[in-house]
Amino acid sequence: MVMPVVVLAFAGTVKPSFRSSKRKAKNVALYKDGSKLTKSDHNAFDVDQKPGTVVNNSGIYRCINCDDEIAANKGNPLPSQNHAQHAPGKPIIWRLLVCAVQKK
Ligand SMILES: [Zn+2]
Repeated sequence: MVMPVVVLAFAGTVKPSFRSSKRKAKNVALYKDGSKLTKSDHNAFDVDQKPGTVVNNSGIYRCINCDDEIAANKGNPLPSQNHAQHAPGKPIIWRLLVCAVQKK
């Protein structure tokens, strides 16, 4: 199966402009060039993963309970201790949001 190609190259921290507006906007991942992203229905995007789980895919992960997003590398554990924005009373559950596809 062909996975989407994602290039993450930030020259600085990206702050969504809608955060400063009075309109309430949902916290969602941002991108500039949509032609570099490909929709995928791969089941890797449906797996709930606990903090500390060693991930099989590099990419952006999103907590399904508080919408916080982090980047994680294949073979490394998902974070837990720095996850301060998490909603109280609900567990941290990470799901793959954007999968980075690396050349072999
Ligand atoms: Zn959370």
